[in-house]
Amino acid sequence: MIKTNKIGDFAVKGVQNLIPYVPGKPIDELKRELGLTEIVKLASNENPLGPGSKVLLAIQKTLTELSRYPDGNGFALKQALAKKLNVLTSQITLGNGSNEILELVARTFLTPDSEVVFSQHAFAVYPLVTQAAGATARVAPALNFGHDLDAMVAMVNSKTRVVFIANPNNPTGTLIEKKVLKNFLSALPETVVCILDEAYFEFVDQDKRVDSIEWLKEYPNLIITRTFSKAYGLAGLRIGYGVSSTELADLFNRVRQPFNNNMLALAAAEEALIDEDYLAETITTNKQGMQFLTNAFSKLGLSWIPSSGNFVSVDLKQESMPIYQALLEKGVIVRPVANYEMPNHLRISIGTEKENQFFVTALKDILS
Ligand SMILES: *Cc1c(COP(=O)(O)O)cnc(C)c1O
Repeated sequence: MIKTNKIGDFAVKGVQNLIPYVPGKPIDELKRELGLTEIVKLASNENPLGPGSKVLLAIQKTLTELSRYPDGNGFALKQALAKKLNVLTSQITLGNGSNEILELVARTFLTPDSEVVFSQHAFAVYPLVTQAAGATARVAPALNFGHDLDAMVAMVNSKTRVVFIANPNNPTGTLIEKKVLKNFLSALPETVVCILDEAYFEFVDQDKRVDSIEWLKEYPNLIITRTFSKAYGLAGLRIGYGVSSTELADLFNRVRQPFNNNMLALAAAEEALIDEDYLAETITTNKQGMQFLTNAFSKLGLSWIPSSGNFVSVDLKQESMPIYQALLEKGVIVRPVANYEMPNHLRISIGTEKENQFFVTALKDILS
């Protein structure tokens, strides 16, 4: 028999077997499905305050320019970031969300011969970009849901090109101690790129924050990624950045699309950086919401993983999928994390006071 190939058989191996990223359920989709009008979405670690009013004004001012291409070098935003972070503009790579930076690193460094190290329960995009490049993932077992950096460094060999670290990690919220992280970086060969993913940096308590940017002077193989999607409330515009040595940034800037950041995102991010009141309100709202939710879990006899982010993963002590479904029926979207090997947990993004209350009431109803 003659075997005929389908066009899909010719796609690169890693892509053929790729399981797509599953995003949080969109609000409109649930409205359509259930005919509900009030939906609370606590599923994607978005900023519950909505975009800041100053940012909206900056976007509005930019609208008349939309027939032009955006600034492909993001000059003004890079200047603002460089000043704020005390680095050179040549050390910055702007991305279509910080997810794009993760992908740029993979495209720049990974081949089917290379290996990548990351932790169990780590952010889902790491295995995704690794597999798409055809590289091999080495997954270090977690320690109390956090990164076990000793186990991770032990997996590094001559084929390892990239190590991903999320600090705080999503979906666990775990934070790595400063000293432990520094020792890890020192132990890592200079020929391995370390991505320190700080998507939730702004939510970390001041006294627990790592001044990772300062470490760039010591480690030319380090890249720190941050985003405007979470604390800055701009998830829908897709803008994030990497800070690294100039040598690394130069490589990533060769690989990226010439106009990877749209004009509205550039203008909005620049304004968001200087809107300190919005950021402060975001952090206060998060702190209060985290307190409220964990108190409620405590009263329900549930435990949770202590989180340094704008979300918390709660242990339901039973399979979480039916409870996720029951919450959906009450108009609450949260995030199941079975795909992260956490079948009994649900990840809840911290919402406004009202949203948090709505969720807790629904959860109480379901569990009683
Ligand atoms: C949300 C998130 C990101 C980035 O998201 P972007 O919207 O692409 O900037 C990166 N890493 C982790 C761990 C995240 O949770």
